[in-house]
Amino acid sequence: MHQLSKRNIASFLKGRIFFYGILLIAAAAILTYLFLREKPVEYYDRTGYYLGTYVTVRVGSKTISPVVLADAAMKEIARIDEKFGSRGSGTIARLNATGQADDLDQETVFLVKSALEVAENTGGAFDPTLFTLTALWGFDDADSEKRVPLDSEIASALAKTGYRRVELDENEMAVRLPEGLTLDLGGIAKGYAVDLAIARIKSLDPQATGFIDAGGDIGVIGPKYGDRPWIVGIRDPRGKSVQDVIEYIYLYDGAVATSGDYERFFIVDGIRYHHILDPKTGNPSRSGVISATVINKSAMLADAYATAAFVMGKDPGITFLPRYGTLVFLVMEDRSTFKSPGFEVYQQK
Ligand code: ADP
Ligand code: MG
Repeated sequence: MHQLSKRNIASFLKGRIFFYGILLIAAAAILTYLFLREKPVEYYDRTGYYLGTYVTVRVGSKTISPVVLADAAMKEIARIDEKFGSRGSGTIARLNATGQADDLDQETVFLVKSALEVAENTGGAFDPTLFTLTALWGFDDADSEKRVPLDSEIASALAKTGYRRVELDENEMAVRLPEGLTLDLGGIAKGYAVDLAIARIKSLDPQATGFIDAGGDIGVIGPKYGDRPWIVGIRDPRGKSVQDVIEYIYLYDGAVATSGDYERFFIVDGIRYHHILDPKTGNPSRSGVISATVINKSAMLADAYATAAFVMGKDPGITFLPRYGTLVFLVMEDRSTFKSPGFEVYQQK
């Protein structure tokens, strides 16, 4: 009896120890799992005013503080804003003031060359020499007086434009502008800033994800949570707010840009005058397009080709631009829409 009860106690204790042992191992396993489990990336948003628009960076990283990444991106955008503005004391402003420069850096040569290439590829629908015209209409600055100029004023401003007259010497790193002609990289610099800011983020964390939106020029840093597309709403050009969306596209990488007649405009006698000018007439472009959205690998090219597509219109914009890796979606005055073959790929998740 005595013996038996001793054995009973011993086996009872053994059972207990076994039970607690299992519990401990289970707890350790759960803790290890919780610790090692991949935490979902938390996105960090930062907004600043650069290049005449609101720029938003949304970024997430598993290895670096997203605050550091957003800082680096914004710094890069601020640098480009300063350097490539048509006014101020940056490289382009100085070039415009003196009419020539022969000590340009590679970045400036690259951007000017890219702008001239898009101009060439679009038959001059994109023209980076319209600053005199833009200023005449008052679209150079939010504070500038906006008015419909006289025909004679438009004619004399037009005489101070023409991308073909820009002399770029890549070997000498030099640009020469004829008397009165000025460079305006406003139609391409925003997109370039987005590309460079993304490159800056990737140099700090190649696995970072998120996107950068510079007033409708959007570049993807990486897919949402690593495997999901970012959903981009194309604004209804006549909608009341940014929430009024006419179409959605899904982007895992690359860039999208929209140029619309609702961004900067004024209305006189019921006529809308907007900031995208037809280089042929010197007037706001009247191609029937009220918004042009383009998808391209590079935000710089998306930016420039969106402006070009707006001016080129349905024909030949829709069918011609895909040869430059650019897919187009146009909204017309009568609210009909047209898209390049292949654009529909981006309308599915
Ligand atoms: P937004 O972000 O407002 O759509 P865009 O990228 O369309 O701007 O570029 C518009 C700016 O480009 C204008 O403010 C002007 O500086 C310049 N611009 C206007 N018309 C043209 C054009 N046909 N080609 C190139 N640049 C242009
Ligand atoms: Mg643009």
